[in-house]
Amino acid sequence: MEAYNALQALMKGPLPSLFFCIGDPVVGNPTEHMVQTAFSSLGFSGRYLTCRVTKDELAPAVWGLRALGFAGGNVTAPHKQTVLPFLDELSESALLGKAVNCITRRPDGTYYGDNTDGKGFLQSLTERNLTVKNKKVVILGSGGAASAIAVELVLAKAGEVVLVNRTEERSRSLAKRLSGVSSTILSVDRWVGTYSIPLDADIVVQATSVGLFSPTMCVDVAFPQRKTPLIACDVVFNPVRTLFLQRAEDAGCTLVDGLGMLVNQGILGIQQWTGKAPDAQGMRRALEEAFGV
Ligand code: NDP
Repeated sequence: MEAYNALQALMKGPLPSLFFCIGDPVVGNPTEHMVQTAFSSLGFSGRYLTCRVTKDELAPAVWGLRALGFAGGNVTAPHKQTVLPFLDELSESALLGKAVNCITRRPDGTYYGDNTDGKGFLQSLTERNLTVKNKKVVILGSGGAASAIAVELVLAKAGEVVLVNRTEERSRSLAKRLSGVSSTILSVDRWVGTYSIPLDADIVVQATSVGLFSPTMCVDVAFPQRKTPLIACDVVFNPVRTLFLQRAEDAGCTLVDGLGMLVNQGILGIQQWTGKAPDAQGMRRALEEAFGV
């Protein structure tokens, strides 16, 4: 593969494609390192910039990115919902989840918003030969990550999705929004004190922010005693080995960490931007390097 020559591009064109990550805070977000590593391995001349954009500055920032012809980018908290009105078209996942984390500029100059978080999660199961079709999945949490995952579970026709959240109103409204989209049964469990993961669950997804940057914090759950291993997933990726996953391992579960979801949502974005499949292992290594694993 021919190496990208920045000086030649500057003097003779074409100029590199520009990509962004906008959010607040963004310091500590390793996406730029992961994406830039993937671009290099593809010989793609894209440049990815991490930009802090406050809530008040979202509108001028997005119009500015559009005016500068940015080819796409990622959106993180707190803009995943509020960015929707600035986009020309939304994917089914973005419409159902009412949130966007990935934007792509189309050849006609319009901007397309997608949500790749939930798809990245499903891919992290698929690459382990795990399926959700007709399975009972318990999701702990009902925020952005949980919602994106619930959307994809419903679209993939999981058997039942049980939503469990500290603030029950939030899980009820998510269940209501997704009911009837497919054959998936949506239900809500109360979370008072220790939540006992149902014996007949196939998969449990820790999708709260508990444990992020904190290896000693874990949601208050009890794992069932059973003969076949429960699949336990955590969306938290830093630390990679969360206390939730350690407890799940002690209970005999099969583990899926949050790094796989992070890499896979990144891959989906890069595919939309470049039309090429990046090197997943290289991207995971880049993240591990960023987290000092
Ligand atoms: P949100 O702020 O939207 O949601 C946070 C969720 O965590 C809510 O359900 C909240 O419950 C729950 N929660 C927070 N504190 C507690 C607590 N002490 N006890 C029980 N529940 C609690 O955040 P996101 O959904 O955007 O992010 C959640 C996590 O997912 C973060 O760690 C983020 O880094 C990670 N993430 C990982 C991705 C990946 O690719 N691996 C992608 C996107 C996110 P309540 O409603 O009651 O406040």
